Amino acid sequence: MKLRVRFAPSPTGHLHIGGARTALFNYLLARKYGGTFVLRIEDTDELRSDEKSVKSIFSSLKWLGLDWDEGAMPDGTEIGSCGPYIQSKREEMGIYRKYADQLIREGKAYHCYCTPQELEKMKKKAQLEKKSLKYDGRCRRLTKSQIEEFKKEGRKPVVRFKMPQEGKTVFEDLIHKTVSFENRLLYDCVIIKASGYPTYNFACVIDDCLMKITHVMRGDDHISNTPLQVNIYRALGFDVPRFAHLSMILGPDGKRLSKRHGSTSVEEYRRRGFLPLALRNYLALLGFSTSDSQQLFKEKELEEKFCLEGCQKNPAVFDEIKLRWMNGEYIRMLSREKLFSMSLPFLEKKGLKVQKNERNIEIVALQQEKYKLLEDVPYLVEFFYRDVEYASDAVEKVLKKPRARAILESIQKVYREMKDFTEKEIEAKTREFARSNNYKTAEIFHPVRVSVSGRTQGPTLFKMLELLGREETVRRISIARRLLESA
Ligand code: GLU
Repeated sequence: MKLRVRFAPSPTGHLHIGGARTALFNYLLARKYGGTFVLRIEDTDELRSDEKSVKSIFSSLKWLGLDWDEGAMPDGTEIGSCGPYIQSKREEMGIYRKYADQLIREGKAYHCYCTPQELEKMKKKAQLEKKSLKYDGRCRRLTKSQIEEFKKEGRKPVVRFKMPQEGKTVFEDLIHKTVSFENRLLYDCVIIKASGYPTYNFACVIDDCLMKITHVMRGDDHISNTPLQVNIYRALGFDVPRFAHLSMILGPDGKRLSKRHGSTSVEEYRRRGFLPLALRNYLALLGFSTSDSQQLFKEKELEEKFCLEGCQKNPAVFDEIKLRWMNGEYIRMLSREKLFSMSLPFLEKKGLKVQKNERNIEIVALQQEKYKLLEDVPYLVEFFYRDVEYASDAVEKVLKKPRARAILESIQKVYREMKDFTEKEIEAKTREFARSNNYKTAEIFHPVRVSVSGRTQGPTLFKMLELLGREETVRRISIARRLLESA
């Protein structure tokens, strides 16, 4: 049997970290075993689902390189023979209704006329009596006349599934092993809402079956839904797929990852200059590890090394500091050209219009080691393209040193007269100048650096001067000298 997995997001916002991790694991499983990765849109929450979220989820998945083989596509088309892959479309076709009617006919589901207020009252009463808060099943046994009465009142019923009330529901989870729930704790869940829309638990079962999903891999926040779903599968005579519930993702404080902990959507990480490969790599390690705890993976390596045996059930902690470190590692692995083109949108956002040419590629690559995020690039290179802004501490601590003025004046002369303004030559001339005038090299290097960049730190000095060019270097030293004169 060919492996078929799916990612089934509810489009109620951007793709968040947990969802992306689920998508990634499904994708990797499909790639590893030559299976099919299906994308299904679960938009049965009419109030919270929207088209904008669908688009955003598509774009985040694409950005992460998680291509799906079957399902709804960004251009509005669909690929695959089990469509439609959008639940609202399936609902319009009456797919869910048909199976709900079957269950009602077979006495496995029933109409429930309880109003939200009545359900609330039922809950409050149970709370006071310290009884189970689950639906008490009162509509299981309605008489004909009661039903007539409700209809006359204009009540719109929901459809509830008759959950077994005795024994246990047991299923094998590929990560959690045997999972067992007492049936008396399960409740008659709603499968069709008053609006006619199916609930998640119902639509999910029908679709996983009709889409021939063999492995359901999802976050373990769904583990308590699984016994409900298993009973629905059985009632419909469907084969139950294999389940794999992925570990929870926690913030550094041990609480479930949420907005409080910082960025939670893939979109935010993309905007901040994380590389897709780095984020993917990091997400893969949230609940998975190789036997030798490998930390960094090359492109396509995860597709080979991923396996269910490496998935843990213990919660994983999302640590942005580690992710940033990892991102820096991936930035270092980029070719200079790639680094440049990936940095461009970040430069533009800061108003730096930089053309693609050898000099600019080199300028961006000069501090490749220092970038943790692509967002760091503009700040670190901006002085190449803009008038220098002198940091006050740099002026105080470096330029205002007693001999700095004289040094700048003389070194400026040296530079002005140079023919071949290359890194090597600049270094040789600067050192020679220091030697013959009995200066310590630092006494020259520091004020020169501050004069041309405004900062005490930056790229390697002589390369930086070469890239600025002789005229610009000389011009900037003049500016620094004027600044000192007026100070
Ligand atoms: N739409 C559900 C969610 O986003 C899917 C859960 C599942 O994979 O079954 O949580």
